[in-house]
Amino acid sequence: MCYTIPALVEEVRKGVATISYFGERKQAYCEFVKLSPGDYIYAQGGYVVEKISPAQAQKTLKAWKDVFFQLRKLDAESAALKANDNSSDLKLQRILEKARNSGKLSKAEALFLLRLKDPQAQFLLRRTANYLRQKFHNNSCCVHGILEISNICVRQCAYCGISAPSGPVRYRMSVGEIIAAAGEAVNKFGFKSLVLQSGEGCGYTVEELAEIVKKIRQRFPVLIFISFGEVGIPGLRKLYAAGARGLLLRFETSNPALYKKIHPGDTLDSRIKHLQAAYRMGYLIITGGLIGLPGSTEADSVNDINLAASLHAEMLSFGPFLPHPFTPLAKHPAPSEEAVLGVLALARIIFPAKTKILITTAYETLSPQARQNGLISGGNSIMINVTPLKYRSLYTIYPHRAHADQTVAQQVREALAMLKSFGRGPTDLGN
Ligand code: SF4
Repeated sequence: MCYTIPALVEEVRKGVATISYFGERKQAYCEFVKLSPGDYIYAQGGYVVEKISPAQAQKTLKAWKDVFFQLRKLDAESAALKANDNSSDLKLQRILEKARNSGKLSKAEALFLLRLKDPQAQFLLRRTANYLRQKFHNNSCCVHGILEISNICVRQCAYCGISAPSGPVRYRMSVGEIIAAAGEAVNKFGFKSLVLQSGEGCGYTVEELAEIVKKIRQRFPVLIFISFGEVGIPGLRKLYAAGARGLLLRFETSNPALYKKIHPGDTLDSRIKHLQAAYRMGYLIITGGLIGLPGSTEADSVNDINLAASLHAEMLSFGPFLPHPFTPLAKHPAPSEEAVLGVLALARIIFPAKTKILITTAYETLSPQARQNGLISGGNSIMINVTPLKYRSLYTIYPHRAHADQTVAQQVREALAMLKSFGRGPTDLGN
């Protein structure tokens, strides 16, 4: 995972390969692998991560061929608009039609959609998002693995259960444990993309983190995203040189005053500068914010989506604020599931084509039906936690995290069965 299927290399020009999935062409950078036309590869996030033998590729493609097209058909049929996808509310109907035709919504129109209270109107909003998701992304669903290498953190984010100085028992996986967990994720479970995550100032220096990234890249064919907080611009450079190609760094809110309030000693400006620098370096960007953060408004949510897009996010990560009992925001309620789905659907409507939308673990913690509901509201990405079980329960950003006690095998099995039942293929390549 992202459980890609093998692709055939048709052409290689200036470090970019044109590849084909059963005739559907895409492009991928091949800086990690030397290629020629006729080779078979696995690609991820727009990068070729592995070259495989023709025999191995043919075997997998033979097994996938019928399923690939069946899943697409199932998804296309369920996402297609039907007569009852129209509203008698003329204003709503006009905005939805504009969205379906990829028209750019004004801020007032976006706010109107986010403020819908009628369940039928909310349903139509989500149907429109699902229609656009299928139209531009087909049935692909990205499935990254996430490995939480340390819960040590020097920050004091007001919503976070592992913020300094108190928090849970601290751990830092050894280099050997990290390599072993990454190896198991790639070799045993087939992940093609891994997010390495920790608190900020996690007990490893940037140089040590870069060495870990390098070791994983040398041993395993996998695309690596880093999520170590703000490591500084030189730090981002070192990690990129070591082989990291993606950055997961959320800004949480686009409201500078609120940002400052909940992130003591930090500024939104600094976070944005990190994200902008990372994009210029060539990182794939995953970013987003908290939905229902105390003190935020619906207008903030619209601004959050716009900010994420202006940062060239290849994936949006918007999850609900979940109160942790040991934090200053403990008494504030989590948002409703409808509010979360409204933001996901609006994000898809505002940016139909370019970005993947993640169904976050925080949303899965809020609702047992999160993946199912998120997938039909514009979402097309999930993450599976590959952190060893003995550490997983200590990464308590919020309490009662979904999948905290499930083995990787259980999670993979359940995720694949669920995706299949929705006609989704783990065939993602990015844009
Ligand atoms: S949100 Fe991240 S940076 Fe902030 S306290 Fe939690 S782990 Fe640390």
